[in-house]
Amino acid sequence: MQEKKRRQFMRQAAGLGVLGLAAAGGIWAAKDFKRGENRLRPPGAVEEDRFLTMCIKCGQCLQVCPYDSIKLEDIDGKAGVGTAYIDPLARGCYLCEAFPCVLACPTGALDHESNVIEKVHMGMAIVVNESACLALEGKKVTKEMIGRIYDHTAVISESERVNRKVEIYDNDTEKVRLQKTLLQKLNTHEGKSCNLCADLCPFTPDPSKAIGMVDKSGGLFPEIRDACVGCGACVELCPTKVLQILPYATYADVYEKKKGTNHV
Ligand code: SF4
Ligand code: SF4
Ligand code: SF4
Repeated sequence: MQEKKRRQFMRQAAGLGVLGLAAAGGIWAAKDFKRGENRLRPPGAVEEDRFLTMCIKCGQCLQVCPYDSIKLEDIDGKAGVGTAYIDPLARGCYLCEAFPCVLACPTGALDHESNVIEKVHMGMAIVVNESACLALEGKKVTKEMIGRIYDHTAVISESERVNRKVEIYDNDTEKVRLQKTLLQKLNTHEGKSCNLCADLCPFTPDPSKAIGMVDKSGGLFPEIRDACVGCGACVELCPTKVLQILPYATYADVYEKKKGTNHV
């Protein structure tokens, strides 16, 4: 299955000129991701062609996702209305331990064997806007930057959204508790140098195998590593849209020929 996913990515990449840009050392623009309709699918998704035939648009994955990560295509999408996808700029996947979305899928469009992190591979993180990285210039995370995530978190109250502060109560559901925990972690970054992508990467047990901050040009910069599964959490959390996900891509596809850089 992994090989088929890889071939799928290579076809998509060729169509988008991604590898040509890689050879030139250029940076792929985020707008090309949109134009290519190259959707990120929920964890465990089989290769794209099969996914499009197997997803019956039932929405069960969406209903069990505690982070509200999964969306269903509307009439503007290239795939049929109701097909499941993730828009990491709006909400990445947080790699729940038991992958409830995978287990809920009645057709195997999300492969039931992929319900452990070792078997999940959604894509690969890439840098699309290096110059915007706050860490590179030693800039701090502001309240407004954190507030962006509050603004698109639906499970909190209006006063919590306005105050950019949440408390966890005994009667909060698991879903609310998880999303509030994420917001509380975000708050601890306010006023500090930005390392949101690396610090909040949900890859377990060791996020540093997927991403880490390294010295670059007198500042720090995120380095994507081979354990990255393309969940898109870092894309959502980055305040300045430095990162993007190439769906179905592997580390070898993106970085093998350009060791030492995150660019494609
Ligand atoms: S792993 Fe969890 S956060 Fe990710 S899509 Fe599935 S249910 Fe949602
Ligand atoms: S549960 Fe499976 S079949 Fe239903 S919308 Fe999600 S991916 Fe498609
Ligand atoms: S670096 Fe971490 S947060 Fe970003 S896509 Fe990879 S696994 Fe997910």
